[in-house]
Amino acid sequence: MYTTMLPTLRISADVALPDNHQWQFRFEVKSETSDRVYIISQNKKRRFWACSCPGWKRHRKCKHLIALDLPCHEQPMEVNLQKA
Ligand SMILES: [Zn+2]
Repeated sequence: MYTTMLPTLRISADVALPDNHQWQFRFEVKSETSDRVYIISQNKKRRFWACSCPGWKRHRKCKHLIALDLPCHEQPMEVNLQKA
């Protein structure tokens, strides 16, 4: 028997969103430069993290994922998501 230690990702329960067909662990992040709100989530099948901001859509990399220590470029990563 062994224990897998996953990195913990803590988010506020206020920003958590329900899963949908393709995405889980969905939550909102606010843009620092505008009133826009983006959605970060993990792809259920391929396990990578995505953001709905223009930077991620264009380059598969953005400051929102980096700020949360989540991988860019569709690299899969498992986390222990905690809502507080
Ligand atoms: Zn982003």
